[in-house]
Amino acid sequence: MPSPWYPSAEVEPVKIVIFGPPGSGKGTYASRLSKRLGIPHISTGDLVREEIRNQTPLGKAIEKYSSSGTLVPDEIITEILKKRLASELLKGFILEGYPRTVGQAMELEKITKVDTVVNLNVPDSVIVDRLSARLQCKTCGTIYNEKTLKPRIPGKCDKCGGELFRRVDDQPEVIRERLKVYREASEPIVNFYWSKNLLKDIRNDDPNVDPERVVDQIMKLI
Ligand code: ADP
Repeated sequence: MPSPWYPSAEVEPVKIVIFGPPGSGKGTYASRLSKRLGIPHISTGDLVREEIRNQTPLGKAIEKYSSSGTLVPDEIITEILKKRLASELLKGFILEGYPRTVGQAMELEKITKVDTVVNLNVPDSVIVDRLSARLQCKTCGTIYNEKTLKPRIPGKCDKCGGELFRRVDDQPEVIRERLKVYREASEPIVNFYWSKNLLKDIRNDDPNVDPERVVDQIMKLI
């Protein structure tokens, strides 16, 4: 039989990395972008917190890194990511929180290709302000801010009614450590992706910016 008339090539899934310092809004933008594009949002920070919450053997082993604002070793976090990513490779994804070292960026290349890396540039003053006012839903993970993105009912999630909590690593001294780790271990990733022509920059100096407007900007870049 001759081949049918319809095209055999499948539509390529979109694979996006959202990169930026802690408190740059990665999680907030990634989850909104995931809804607009209809592809999963994968956050290694959330995967780490889930392992810790469930007190799995892995969770117990990595708790000390997360609560002190230091990085989980590359081999461990890459295994956690691979497990989660396996089912999404055909659908595409918005990946956030990984890679965080050049070593992880090289590991990701072995797992899958990436189409675009969105690099969020935010001044340290905005970061510290934002993280010290951040709240997150225990049940669905939605992020709020006591000053700029308040829930309708204090302490309760607008979406699912879940309880809001403050992350243990959102205290001033841990925030400072996370920023230091970002400058030393994560920032070199900017050059890695820039040299591969994958990097798209977003500047975000306004602490009160509406997240949907930033997502509009990201949509134009991808
Ligand atoms: P942030 O708001 O600092 O960007 P995340 O929620 O992404 O934080 O991650 C929380 C913590 O989980 C990190 O401080 C780190 O200990 C661990 N973690 C998450 N992703 C990675 C990664 N790719 N490599 C190493 N550690 C990670």
